[in-house]
Amino acid sequence: MRIGILALQGAFQEHAVLLEEAYRQLRARGGTVIALEVVEVRTPSELASCDALVIPGGESTTFGIVAERNGLLDDLRRFVRDGSKSVWGTCAGLIVLADQISGGKSDGQPLIGGLGVRVCRNHFGRQTESFIAPVSMPFLSDEPQRPLESVFIRAPVVDVILADDYKANDPKSAPVEVLGRLLSGEIIAVRQGHLVGTSFHPELTTDARFHKWWLETCVLGLTAR
Ligand code: GLN
Repeated sequence: MRIGILALQGAFQEHAVLLEEAYRQLRARGGTVIALEVVEVRTPSELASCDALVIPGGESTTFGIVAERNGLLDDLRRFVRDGSKSVWGTCAGLIVLADQISGGKSDGQPLIGGLGVRVCRNHFGRQTESFIAPVSMPFLSDEPQRPLESVFIRAPVVDVILADDYKANDPKSAPVEVLGRLLSGEIIAVRQGHLVGTSFHPELTTDARFHKWWLETCVLGLTAR
């Protein structure tokens, strides 16, 4: 199993550290856990070798420019729509996975799309309005009652769930589930089948519980949720 971390810009090394830690914890629990490799992805052939992908935070407009320049955008769109490959976007990664954005550049910005939501960029304002907030994630397998201290940096929120995207009879289509909200109600984590998006940056903490959940549930399919 090879997990790629898109390394065009942004916080990609931090994801690798927490994925390795999550994998170490899964193995320490015992039982058979498939061999796992975490690699950085910058080219179409590196992407093609991966079974799952993390799209890190950073700046979604820069992402669009660099992904187009590297000839990666169409490959990323195919990867995300493959349906068998788990993809998780954090912050700018959530923005580029969304089918629609509000608060984007007026002339549009390239997106990968695939996640049936509309995302509002920079919902909380500027860099100086960055904050850390507890988010309840009772589905996490370790200490589920302990909220995840989540880092928001010029973060987006999901402001609309595009329900039309879900076709109950199509096995490739899945409903959008809300995984987390702020106490003020904003949706900041969603899952639609093989796609996950979070507004915050779990990779900028030392808490590997969300990475572990993604690895065991979405990538390795070890748990039911
Ligand atoms: N505000 C950034 C954007 O629009 C995202 C910030 C982040 O990834 N921390 O792309």
